[in-house]
Amino acid sequence: MQNAPLFHVLLDHLEAIDTPPMEVQRFVDHWSKLTPHGHLPCPVCFLNGEEQPLVPLDAQANLEPVICKACGTRYEVPINER
Ligand SMILES: [Zn+2]
Repeated sequence: MQNAPLFHVLLDHLEAIDTPPMEVQRFVDHWSKLTPHGHLPCPVCFLNGEEQPLVPLDAQANLEPVICKACGTRYEVPINER
């Protein structure tokens, strides 16, 4: 699994916005096929049928935020999480 801490944050976000499990699974499948050097896709945009890259922002004390510039969703990734 690539970038597991980020992946968990993305899944939590999908759950928080009441994404149906089948849709979440679609994103999980997509994520599992990413290549190591490909961009990381925004899950919200992916489920809307678009591929938008997540852009890393400057790390803060213990967070590494990433943002999707297409939909403006920001994901806070804890640095210490497994
Ligand atoms: Zn997005």
